[in-house]
Amino acid sequence: MSCTPLLNKTRLGTVARQGKRRDAERLAASPISNASNRELPETELPSLVLTYKYRLLPTRKQHKALVGILESQRQLYNGALEHRIGAWQKAAKTVTLYSQMAELVELRSEPEFSVLPSNLQRWTLRRLDEAYQGFFRRVKAKGEKAGFPRFRGKGRWSSFGFAEFSGIRLIGKRLYFKGIGGGLRMHLHRPLPDARPLCCTFTRDHKGWSVCLQYRVPVAALPKTGKQTGIDFGLTHLATLSTGEQIPNPRVAKRAESELRRHQRALARCKKGSNRRKKAKQQLARSHARVKSGRRTYLHQVSAKLVRETDVIVIEDLNVKGLAGSMLAKAVHDASWAALRQMLAYKAEKAGREVVVVDPKYTSQTCPDCGIIAKKKLSERTHRCDCGCVLDRDHAAAKVILQRGRSGSRSSQREVFACA
Ligand SMILES: [Zn+2]
Repeated sequence: MSCTPLLNKTRLGTVARQGKRRDAERLAASPISNASNRELPETELPSLVLTYKYRLLPTRKQHKALVGILESQRQLYNGALEHRIGAWQKAAKTVTLYSQMAELVELRSEPEFSVLPSNLQRWTLRRLDEAYQGFFRRVKAKGEKAGFPRFRGKGRWSSFGFAEFSGIRLIGKRLYFKGIGGGLRMHLHRPLPDARPLCCTFTRDHKGWSVCLQYRVPVAALPKTGKQTGIDFGLTHLATLSTGEQIPNPRVAKRAESELRRHQRALARCKKGSNRRKKAKQQLARSHARVKSGRRTYLHQVSAKLVRETDVIVIEDLNVKGLAGSMLAKAVHDASWAALRQMLAYKAEKAGREVVVVDPKYTSQTCPDCGIIAKKKLSERTHRCDCGCVLDRDHAAAKVILQRGRSGSRSSQREVFACA
């Protein structure tokens, strides 16, 4: 199962899913959660929060119960949203998370509402609250589309969770909580950390069910290598290192393009609501999932290798969002620099390494030897300078990036919060 990295509120990337991002924000707000928090007492070992994802192996009965829980939480979400909208329209009153939580306590006196752990229902209410917070943040920030929280239709709700690890128990490889008969078995493809989880989320996807457990794990610093590396992200090569090493770009989606197109066409031909359409839809979802997981596996391998081999990794502060809106959109998405960056960030933090982000201005125009800026077109693949420096364009850029990292001309230092 792949690990999902995520970042803090400053949002280095755009891949972090809403639910996960929310958890990170919550944890980032608590004083002990940040591994790079300088105020930690020295006796306390640095630690970070990581997410471990496992497939679930529910029995047929448990599967039905899980589906039932999803549906009940979808309705709770919709109900809570309606409540908030109604209060505002009728009385211009703002309903807070806490008033809704208080109301939940009352609701739970009815047997219909108390079949599930209260902690699970609170997770759903909190999710709505965070949808609201996101909306207000986007309204303030402008530029972005604000997007008011929506009612979730059937098929538009696929997770529930526990905001704290209470009301649920983990014994051996099974999870126990009210509303599920017996223990939910996990497929432990890797061992669980020896600690108590902080929270967990259950999700349903095209393959079945899985659970994400969050743990606070100590930072296990890798032995120093004494190496520093600058990295230039690109399209012909996924990355070029300041050592001259090139990391190939597998272009997973590009290779699967014809297959995806075929499935997309097949889906378009099917009549709405038909059985065939359902099947074609599943087929397409499977293809997309394969592309996604192939890409993630590769990025995990690349980032793990980079972190293992160098103490300090210097990267550019790329505007991935901006580039992804350009002509090269598809290729940029397929290269998924943002995801690679997140992986580098949390893996580095876990291993006691450092990731330095520098200003990307003219990195590919500057000469690494004499520092003169000489414009060149995107099609010029070789850097030639009057000082006699001749290098591969990306190699030269990676060297410039490393120099900037060393000289301390960092772009605004962003804290990185990782979850894997
Ligand atoms: Zn030069």
